Amino acid sequence: MVANMESNRVRLARTRNLVKAALHGLDGLAYPAPADGLAVLVYHRVVSGIPKELAIPPRMFRRQIRFLIENYPIVHPDRLLSGGEIRNGVLLTFDDGYEDFGQTVLPVLREFGVPALLYLCSQRLLDGGYHWFDNDLPPERKRLLRGDDARRLCDSGLVVIGSHTRTHRRVTELADGDLLEEIAGSRAELERITGQTVPHFAYPQAEWDERTELIVGRHYRTAVIGGYRRNPGAFNPLRLFRIGIQQSDSERVFRWKVSGELRLLHLMSRARHRPLGWLRETVPAA
Ligand SMILES: [Zn+2]
Repeated sequence: MVANMESNRVRLARTRNLVKAALHGLDGLAYPAPADGLAVLVYHRVVSGIPKELAIPPRMFRRQIRFLIENYPIVHPDRLLSGGEIRNGVLLTFDDGYEDFGQTVLPVLREFGVPALLYLCSQRLLDGGYHWFDNDLPPERKRLLRGDDARRLCDSGLVVIGSHTRTHRRVTELADGDLLEEIAGSRAELERITGQTVPHFAYPQAEWDERTELIVGRHYRTAVIGGYRRNPGAFNPLRLFRIGIQQSDSERVFRWKVSGELRLLHLMSRARHRPLGWLRETVPAA
C-alpha cells in the first residue's frame, strides 16, 4: 500500500514535470490574455536554501511580484468583503506564518506597495512551536511568527491576518468539539493577539467538506480552498479557489498559472480520489 502510494507519487511528479517541460517549450506562443475574475495565489515561504517546492527564493519572488503589478490589479483582501464582482485581479495570500515572512516578503510588499493576506495558526503564535510537517528541518530553518510579529505586520498596513486554524490539523478528520476549537477558537485567539477583526479562513491542506464549511460559514466571511483556477467575477466567498506557487515554476509557468489557463494541472488533481498534495499544500509523506 505504502509502496503503491509512493509509486503513484513518483508517477504524478513525473507527469507534472512533463507538463511543465511542455510549457517551457511553448516559446513564441502568446500568453493568454488576462482572464476575467480573480486569481488568488498561495505562497508559503520566501526563503533561500530550502529544497522544498513551497520555499520560493527571494529573487524569484521579487520578479514575480514585479510581473504581477505590471500586468494585473492587485486586490486588497478587504475587497473580498465588499460584495460585487471582481472583474480582473490578483490576490496574494501566504500560509503557515514562517518567521521569514517579515524578512523576505514584507520588504517586497513595501517596495511595490501591494497588500497581502497572511493565514496564521493561532496556537503557534502563542507557543513558539513548529508545524508538524517540518520535522525534517532543523529548528533555525522552521521558526514561525510570534504574537508580537503578527501585531507588527498588521501595523504595516499591508498585511491582513486570516486564520489557518489553531494547530494546522486536517479539519475534516476532527470531532465536533475539536472542529469548533480549531475554527472558531483560532479566530478568537487571533483577534485577541492582533486586536483586529479576522473574517478570513484557509483550510489546512485545502481539506474541507459540507460539515466543516457549515462551521466556517458561521464564523468567517471568506474561505479559501484548492482548485487551481481563477475565480469567476461573481465568486462564492466561502469557496475561493487558489493557485499554488512552487519553487520549480519557471517564469513562463508562473505566468500561465496566474492566467488560470493551466487547466490540465487542475484536471490531474481531480483524477485522484484525494486531490494531489502538491496542488493543495505539499506535505512530506510522514
Ligand atoms: Zn498550511
